[in-house]
Amino acid sequence: LGPLYFFMVRAKLPGGKLTADQYLVFDDLCERYANGTMRITSRQGIQFHGVFKPNLKNQIRAMNDALVSTLAACGDVNRNVMCCPAPIRNDSVRDEMQALADRIAEHLCPKTTAYHDIWLNGEKQAASPKGEVVEPIYGKHYLPRKFKIAIALPEDNCVDVLSDDLGILVKHSDGKIEGYNLFVGGGMGMTHGMAKTYPRLATPLCFATPNEVIDVMTAVVKVQRDHGNREDRKQARMKYLIDSWGEKKFHDTVQEYYGKPLAEYTGDRVTGMDDHLGWHDQGDGKRWVGVHVKSGRIADHADHRFRSGLREVVAKHRANVRFTAQANILLCDVDPAATVDINQILLDHGIVSYDDLTKIERYSLACPAIPTCGLALSDSERALGHVLSMLHAEIAALGLQEEDIALHMTGCPNGCVRPYSSDIGIVGRQPNKYTVFLGGNVEGTALSFQYQDLVPTNDLPKVVRGPLLFYKQAREEGEGFGDFCRRKGETEVRSFVESLPDT
Ligand code: SF4
Repeated sequence: LGPLYFFMVRAKLPGGKLTADQYLVFDDLCERYANGTMRITSRQGIQFHGVFKPNLKNQIRAMNDALVSTLAACGDVNRNVMCCPAPIRNDSVRDEMQALADRIAEHLCPKTTAYHDIWLNGEKQAASPKGEVVEPIYGKHYLPRKFKIAIALPEDNCVDVLSDDLGILVKHSDGKIEGYNLFVGGGMGMTHGMAKTYPRLATPLCFATPNEVIDVMTAVVKVQRDHGNREDRKQARMKYLIDSWGEKKFHDTVQEYYGKPLAEYTGDRVTGMDDHLGWHDQGDGKRWVGVHVKSGRIADHADHRFRSGLREVVAKHRANVRFTAQANILLCDVDPAATVDINQILLDHGIVSYDDLTKIERYSLACPAIPTCGLALSDSERALGHVLSMLHAEIAALGLQEEDIALHMTGCPNGCVRPYSSDIGIVGRQPNKYTVFLGGNVEGTALSFQYQDLVPTNDLPKVVRGPLLFYKQAREEGEGFGDFCRRKGETEVRSFVESLPDT
């Protein structure tokens, strides 16, 4: 007998969209082939964990039968394209954004037939005359590293657009899209103790009209394909190419690949973020409700039966589904008359309304880490509840429970849930030990600084208490916790904490 391998299977869902029928297929598959849970990812996809090798092909085939692919959900290609999922139907801007996400996903999807050969009907597909599939964008060797794209509105950066290789910020007025500002070189991953690796937020490249955006984006991808570092995988993301060349050289090279002058960046910036939780009118006579899902894990537990509750709403009320970048779920296109019944179903299954959550709970997010991610150095999803319950006491004692504080926790420095741009980032270092970062914000517009290293799990609240107290005493009106820490700077935050009697 050989080992019984098990796998993670990730669905690629541009803009986080699934129909009610597709969601029900997914719900069925997680029971049939996976570990009975689904995990909403921080990039609006879905992961199935614990799929045993003999079930792998059945799982992938069944997903494709439901018209959902896993192709390019992993690998050194463009990954899932993120986009604001709010289903505001009388807003052509959001519809156009979703349509652009679909177009980009299709445009940058590998043309290989190997996926179909291996996972679907098992028969060789028609190839090019020379027997080789032509990859018009990726060429023979694909990209040096994974590539990430997101589309956001300046006033609603719910997808953390600046953490991507290519961030597309919509410019709109009077309900119409004028074009897009393109930001390049975002990326969260780093390695502990290796200074040449670091998180970076995307910086402005240019403006593109709706007719130009796909071609400019393609030029960016091709520049990274041809010039990204293929010798050192830890330097292979596009952010390192931009920093080694300088932004001007990168801009000029993209322009050369594009073949025409790039229009100038218009200066628009991210100004806000909306997590889309709670009940909202869609503008077409229907409603959606955004439901907070703890760390994106759709599972049944004794006290909260997320999976059963969500399945019942989707099946009974034919709710189409969208996933958010905070790993929450929007139950969409429901009749307003169903509001009371849906609330009751959610309540019966122990799914609390977002306004019963503490603020830090609402904006918290953890990656899967142990036991399902092979790269994890410490717990994250399994530890978040414990960490939050300890922090609640500190925050309540300081009277800061009404502040929007985003806490993102990961099991390793790859930073899959963007810990370096949240107010508090907790990053796995060793089993039960973490590096603490401070200085990001809910809007995802700033990078944090490393505050403490090798902090044992149970000491995390104590470590954050001093900076929170400083914030309470010296913040400016309306200032967020992370923004305050960044304004004061690492040295001043530290000296304040060191001056406290119990430190
Ligand atoms: Fe990503 Fe690291 Fe978390 Fe794994 S442990 S999900 S690689 S951040």
